[in-house]
Order: sequence, then structure tokens, then C-alpha cells
Amino acid sequence: MALLQIAEPGLAAAPHEHRLAAGIDLGTTNSLVATVRSGVAETLPDADGRHTLPSVVRYTAGGVEVGESARLAASGDPLNTIASAKRLIGRGVADVKSIGEELPYEFVSGDSAVPRIRTLAGDVTPVEVSAEILKVLGGRAQQTLGGELAGVVITVPAYFDDAQRQATKDAARLAGLHVYRLLNEPTAAAVAYGLDRGADGVHAIYDLGGGTFDVSILRLHNGVFEVMATGGDTALGGDDFDAAVAGWLLQQASLGIDADRGTLRHALDMARAAKEALTDATAVDVQLTLPQGGTWHGELTRERLAELIDPLVRKTITTCRRVIRDAGVSTDDIEDVVMVGGSTRGLRVRERVAELFGREPLVDIDPDRVVAIGAALQADVLAGNKPDDDMLLLDVNPLSLGIETMGGLTEKIIPRNTTIPVARAQEFTTFKDGQSAMAVHVVQGERELVADCRSLARFELHGIPPMVAGAARIRVTFAVDADGLLHVEAREQTSGVSASVEVKPSYGLTDDEITGMLQASIDHAGKDMDVRRLVEEKVEAQRVIEALSAALANDADELLDAAERARVDAALQRLVAVAESSQSAADVEAAIKQLERDCEFYVERRMNSGIRKAMAGHRVDEFSEENGSSAD
Ligand code: ADP
Ligand code: MG
Repeated sequence: MALLQIAEPGLAAAPHEHRLAAGIDLGTTNSLVATVRSGVAETLPDADGRHTLPSVVRYTAGGVEVGESARLAASGDPLNTIASAKRLIGRGVADVKSIGEELPYEFVSGDSAVPRIRTLAGDVTPVEVSAEILKVLGGRAQQTLGGELAGVVITVPAYFDDAQRQATKDAARLAGLHVYRLLNEPTAAAVAYGLDRGADGVHAIYDLGGGTFDVSILRLHNGVFEVMATGGDTALGGDDFDAAVAGWLLQQASLGIDADRGTLRHALDMARAAKEALTDATAVDVQLTLPQGGTWHGELTRERLAELIDPLVRKTITTCRRVIRDAGVSTDDIEDVVMVGGSTRGLRVRERVAELFGREPLVDIDPDRVVAIGAALQADVLAGNKPDDDMLLLDVNPLSLGIETMGGLTEKIIPRNTTIPVARAQEFTTFKDGQSAMAVHVVQGERELVADCRSLARFELHGIPPMVAGAARIRVTFAVDADGLLHVEAREQTSGVSASVEVKPSYGLTDDEITGMLQASIDHAGKDMDVRRLVEEKVEAQRVIEALSAALANDADELLDAAERARVDAALQRLVAVAESSQSAADVEAAIKQLERDCEFYVERRMNSGIRKAMAGHRVDEFSEENGSSAD
């Protein structure tokens, strides 16, 4: 999506008015909410002083529990405690089959497109589970700030597709939150460090959490971040470090990894504590309570820890190398490396990352909170709380969006460079008598002919009530939200039947392609207009031919004698021939006019006969008042 820096009129708040806004890091394991107060972005704690909310929701017969208490209940009540909503959100039933097998939940089999999980409180979808988490965080923000939130920015992984993004927004709506926009997690981290205010350049975001690893290469261009490449491993994180250390501890204590579950859990807990302590200390004492009684005492040094986790850290470095290559840059091109996720506190991780990129990574902001903080900064800007002279980042629609009309012409509904979000509607009508369906072809581009534009989506509107050609009113609405998602709806106004589609117009288009499409429209502008006029005249000719043929089939026998019928037919054939072969708009237009003149007598006769029929059996004065229905 191309972007421009513009201060949007009306969006900046009045000096005395401060809109409440928050940034939410909706994480796989933990979630956070942050807000900007007195110019400083900070995460908000709950009543017990805890900033992170475990992303766990437990459904009981009595209600819903979210966070720490749900997390603690998970092992005892695995079926009703959902801890992986983010891995399922926006996925279809087929997609979650593979993930679902690793999860303890009971999925409801059925023909719904969205996976549903059976719980004590009824069947729930991943969207509903996420909504519970968002409700708690939104509530925390409203309570802390003492008012309603005007809007929030929610972060999502850079690799989330449209469906996953849409589902995340649905969850927010369900939680009663207005979403200013979704923000990519790596972008949020870069914003937290103020990289968006620096010079144009390339940055890397290294995110190593408890269970997942993500790396993204971002390019800042005119104040806007573009994701150049992303990669990672959904099954690599601090938990694996713990396992490596625990294995070593058990071996040292002569217990072996076939120890019972309780001992394993205990060893993992000790391993994690030792690993975290080694960020500050060079060596720590470790104690293991032995299953046969007694205690094992030992020491874990930084060097030993580094040795144990090195194979895992190296895996992340290999992934970084691949992603840098995918982005088409070299490590020398990368200006800053931002560290995200609790595991980047580990010194070995920092060392290896610094080695790869040849510079010290940015670690000043708490790596658990950096994403939420970036989201809060962005939310504050979008709420209009910045002074008037401060620039706002606004997305614009880079290429015109429209639909195909008769003859393969494009009708632009949202012109290029319109700031988004935006919604525009236009009315269309049917081409044939009794037409009951209409094909809507959504296109993108500046050219006059559909063939020269990019096709985005097609859908059909069915169930249009039978009417004469041109009488139906079909309202087509285009709405582009702040994330660039386009929603198109066609609605027949009298019956209310409607159909719609959603697409991401920027999907797969590079800046160069957009520029190329614009250049082509300028190069072809003159020729395109000529072609458009010709097509328009031909469409009009077709409409006249259709209408006349329909009329003839209906009442020619009654109203015309054989000679008159032959005259009308001949005139009709002349227009058919011109409309088929002519390359001149003026010729087609002249032929239409000629046909209208040739058939004037017939049209007049039809009108008289129509009036006579309508009046049969009625008194004239019944018609003296207009009765509502107009003929346009
Ligand atoms: P997630 O993104 O998966 O929710 P987090 O970003 O919260 O995970 O990171 C959790 C991980 O960070 C855990 O594995 C934890 O042990 C690790 N971690 C936390 N503090 C430290 C530390 N000081 N040194 C090393 N690892 C740490
Ligand atoms: Mg995280």
C-alpha cells in the first residue's frame, strides 16, 4: 500500500480534548495493553500489578475466566481451557486439522467453515476466545484511564493473511472495541524505538519468545514501514532452551530423561529459573529435589548455558540469514536490529545476533512490552492526540477501484489517492427486461478498459425481481478500511437482496508495479478515451436493439402491417450491422439516431395502445392524480 504523509483535517483533536486510545499486543502466550500518558507510552498492570495477561480463556459452567487463573487451571481442565486461540484464529476447519491434533480440545464436527471448540459453556470459536482476552485488556485500559476508549491498535504477526486479520478485527468488534487499525508486530517494535522518525533505511526485528521465533526485515520509506521479508519457526523458543538445560540437570543428578512427569516438570522449572538468573549472574546454584528423597546441588555457569543452547540459537541465526537473502539485502544494509520477546534477554542470544549483523542490537525497551508500546504510540497518533503541526500517517488508496460495466468498461468508484478508510456508493441498473442476476466484477487500475486493469474479484447478485431493463436500482458500495481491506456490496434497493465480497487490493502488488500501472494510464489516456466512447455507443446500440426486439416480439403482430414490419426490421438490421463492425463512435451514434427516426411511428403507436389498454374499464378521472410510482 502506498502511503502519503498528510495531516488529515478534522482528525486532530481540539486542544482541550484528549481521546483515549490503547495499543494491544494480542500474543500467543501472553497479551498486554499499553497507552500514552503525558507523552510517555507504558504498559498497564492489573490490580495485582501484573502487566502480562496470559492469553488463556477457561470456560466453566459458571462463566468465563481469563488470564492467570485460567492458565493455572489448564492442566487440570484441558478441554475447557483454550490457550491457542491465536494459532486457530481466521483458519478454516481444514487448516486447523493438523494443528488441532496437537491440541487437547474437542472440536465440534459439523459443516461450519469456522472451527468450533466444545466447552462446558457451549461451543466457542477462536474469534470468541480472542474477544474474551481483548475485553479484559480493553476493560483494564478503560478502568486505568477512567473513560471509554475511542479506539485501539491491535498487533498481529507480519505473516497473518487477510482471513486471520479480518478474524482478529471481528474479535475486537465482539469485545466492543473500535479498531483504528491492525499493526504488524515487527512494525510496532520499530515504532517503539522511534525508527519511523529516523532516516529511510532497512531494519531487522528479531523476536524470540517462549515458543516461537520470528524475524522480519522492514524497510522504512517516507515514514512508512514495508515488510520486505519475514520468516521464523513456530516451534522454537525459550521453552526449548529450558528443555536443553533440564536435560543436562537430570543427567548431572543421575536421573535421566525418563524421570517421572513430576520430576521433569520440576527440572524444567529449575532450568528456566537458572537460565533467567544467568542474564545477571555469571553462575548460579541449582537444586533439584530428588524423587527418592534428598536434594541434588549443582552449579550452572554462563558458559555451560551457552554451550547447551547454542544449537538452538544457531537455528535462529540460519533463519535470519535466509530472510535477509529473501529481502534482497545484505547484513551491511541493515541499520538497526530490534530485540523482541523474553528470550532476547539471554546474553548468548544477544551475542549471536550482534555477531551476525555486525552491530549491537537495540535492547533498551523491555522486550516483552516493546510491541504493545509501539501499538500504543500508533494508537495515540490515530486518535488525533498529537499537536496539529504533527504529521499523521495516512494510508491512501494507490490505484482506482471500480467495477466492470457493459462492454468491458471500467467505472471508477474510489479514485486513486483517496485517503482511507473510505466508503463510496454508486447505483447501477439492469440491461435486459426481466434480468434476475447481475455479475459484479471488481477491478483496480486507471485504464478505461477492464482488459487493461487488474481483476480483483467477481461475484454475482441473484434474486433481482423481474423488471423492465433500466428500472432496477442496484446500489454498489465500496468500502476500504484502515487496513486496506476492500469490502464490496451490491444491493437491489426494492427487494433488499444483496451479495458481497472482500479483497485486499494491495495484495501482491509492488510499488514498481503500481507506478507502472499509473504510467500506462497516462500514456494511453487519449486513446483510452476514444475507445471508451466507442464502447459506450456500442453498448447504447445494443440496448436499443434489445428494447426494439423485445417490443416487436410483444406487439408487432397487433400494431404493424407486413410492410411496416419490414421497414422496422430493415432499420434494425442496419443498426446491428453498424454496431458490429464500426470503429467510429460517431457512426454508431448516427446509426442509433437513424433507427430512432425510422421507428418513431411504431413507438408512438405503442404508447397510444398502451394508454388505451391501461384505461380499459376505468374512468378517466381515476387517473387525474399521480399515484406515487414514477417512471424513471
Ligand atoms: P511469548 O512471546 O511466547 O509469549 P515471551 O516473549 O513472553 O514469550 O518470552 C518468554 C520467554 O522468555 C520464556 O522462555 C522465558 O524463560 C524467557 N525469558 C524471560 N526472561 C529471560 C531472561 N532474563 N533470560 C533469558 N530468557 C528469559
Ligand atoms: Mg511475545
